[in-house]
Amino acid sequence: MPKLFLMLLLTPHLYGARVAVTIDDFAMRNGTALSLVQRDKRILAALEKYHIKAAAFVTGKYIQTPQVMERLGKWDKSGHLIANHTFSHPNFHKTELRVFEQDILKCEALIGKFVNFTRLFRFPYLKAGDTREKRDGIRRFLEKHGYKYGHVTIDASDWYISSRLESKLDRTANTPLEPYKRYYLDHIWERAQYYNGLSTRYLGREIDHTLLIHHNLLNALFLDDLLGMFREKGWELIDAAVAFKDPVFDSKPNVLPAGESLLWSLAKAKGDGSLRQPGEDSVYEKHRMDERQL
Ligand SMILES: [Zn+2]
Repeated sequence: MPKLFLMLLLTPHLYGARVAVTIDDFAMRNGTALSLVQRDKRILAALEKYHIKAAAFVTGKYIQTPQVMERLGKWDKSGHLIANHTFSHPNFHKTELRVFEQDILKCEALIGKFVNFTRLFRFPYLKAGDTREKRDGIRRFLEKHGYKYGHVTIDASDWYISSRLESKLDRTANTPLEPYKRYYLDHIWERAQYYNGLSTRYLGREIDHTLLIHHNLLNALFLDDLLGMFREKGWELIDAAVAFKDPVFDSKPNVLPAGESLLWSLAKAKGDGSLRQPGEDSVYEKHRMDERQL
């Protein structure tokens, strides 16, 4: 008992939710602010600093150069999960089932050799089937190939904020970065609370969350601050492999079109009439960023 009491005292954030980081696309780029290698090193260093292992949902077409493959090898060596996000990043709702299936296998052929390759699959744009036939067909295909769904629970628009930042820096190299950091952190915190709210409302508990972000300049600059923010707010940072063990990730919400955040889908299946469609998009951020001249 005294040992448990001591543990309670020393565990700083016992009552916060838990969140893992998942990173999509790996469209590693050289840019105005930082080179490809600098960006990648900074993202890896932020994860290292907080002692967490992420899940890398890799798009095959982006990793075909020796340089990017070498960088991805460092993710693998550091113990991050390497997972499948298709080869060509097609929108499943605009792609035939058979074509989509081949695209998944084409990505696996590239990443299957990594030690930490894991059969988790994430749909590009989180579009998981526009018809019953496709939604159930791809479920059967993925099961047959030993894949589980690499669901997102906290969806957001980091990709859009990053693209605005990059084009601003292209025009004005000495643009102050702080306002972008502020906008990004506030955005993610707002979305995290929103999706965590869906979790407590519809599941009666705080699930282990999977936050979706991308390999981009924004995260090269601010992932460290973002993870620090979650800690400060009392959330626990956990490994992606731990988060994906939450039984919520086995749910198969009966909704069409299928996709978006898993929590969005579960809420939709329960008839939540307040959901935005889609759950996240640049249109929700555009006017706010315009107003702030970001
Ligand atoms: Zn993607």
